[in-house]
Amino acid sequence: MSRPKIFVTRKLPEAGIKRILDIFDVEIWPEYPPPPRDFLLQKIKTVDGLVSLLTDKIDRKLLENAENLKIIAQYAVGYDNIDLEACTSKGVYVTNTPGVLTDATADHTMALMLAIARRIVESDTYIRTGKWEESNTGWHPTMLLGVELNGKTLGIIGLGRIGAAVARRARAFGMKIVYYSRQRKPTLEKELDATYLQLGDLLKVSDIVSIHVSLNDRTKNLIGARELKLMKPTALLINTSRGAVLDEEALYDALKDGIIAGAALDVFRQEPTPKTNKLLALKNIVVTPHTGSATHKTRIRMAEIVSENLIAFFSGKIPPNLVNRDVTNIKKPEKII
Ligand code: NAP
Repeated sequence: MSRPKIFVTRKLPEAGIKRILDIFDVEIWPEYPPPPRDFLLQKIKTVDGLVSLLTDKIDRKLLENAENLKIIAQYAVGYDNIDLEACTSKGVYVTNTPGVLTDATADHTMALMLAIARRIVESDTYIRTGKWEESNTGWHPTMLLGVELNGKTLGIIGLGRIGAAVARRARAFGMKIVYYSRQRKPTLEKELDATYLQLGDLLKVSDIVSIHVSLNDRTKNLIGARELKLMKPTALLINTSRGAVLDEEALYDALKDGIIAGAALDVFRQEPTPKTNKLLALKNIVVTPHTGSATHKTRIRMAEIVSENLIAFFSGKIPPNLVNRDVTNIKKPEKII
């Protein structure tokens, strides 16, 4: 039997995918930007498996072309780029890479929180542009004052894997935790001494709000003008989940008009976000280019998880990180390798 054909839409860390290179007939998109839509529409016709990224739109149209496709192994924990229902009805398995990027993303969230709270980027610019030199003083009691985390209330929206990992870190900084999620988490409440609040109440009491929900129909535009107005004028907002959860226009107005004090974003409605994005003209915002999980270790682990899911599936097993569980009622994995 010929080896299953796998198309990988971007170069992944070699250490993470070397196992699949020996087992499957693997083709890897060689360029830095993603494969163009037309190319993917053609390529999908011939492959048994696809390794996708969040930049690849997997919709009904693409799936119509996917005659041999059996599995999509997403190189991410989020899978909002994939039409899950369409995959399930076509019998296509979808997997993701949960857990292995939790610590990296939680670290990044703390880095953003500290950066906006202590004006790190502004401070860096202050030195590089010669403002410190011009000030003629090495130290001043009111130079670049910020806020400290100790004693502050952190509102976590979405107490999942990453939300909980951020809460653990924040506890070490002496923060009090409140959270909002679909379901209450009694065990985490105990561990983190965390209080469950409705979203509106969380926004009212939090000094810092950090968003960690997955993107779905209910979380799209979860935070808009109405929600921002509930926040304290001194509050800071961090988003490392998905850009579409937050209304950027409303955030711009809130930051400009002093409705809230600052924001730090790793994710945007449009990625890459253009340099003309008016948020970037504001001083009270810190931004990073969707690099929440960007550590060497995590990116290798993510590729290993992708490989493990593909190998399990083509060995006739249910892949460990199956997202669309219902697909097992429609099709069983076949042992091909
Ligand atoms: P997770 O464990 O599935 O957590 C997602 C959380 O979202 C859960 O707590 C869930 O609540 C909550 N949620 C979903 N829909 C909701 C709704 N309608 N209302 C309230 N809460 C809702 O996922 P994770 O591993 O922590 O990852 C979270 C997200 O972070 C991913 O989906 C991805 O979009 C993003 N992410 C970003 C980066 C980055 O580079 N910036 C890296 C990794 C992940 P329940 O638990 O109550 O169901």
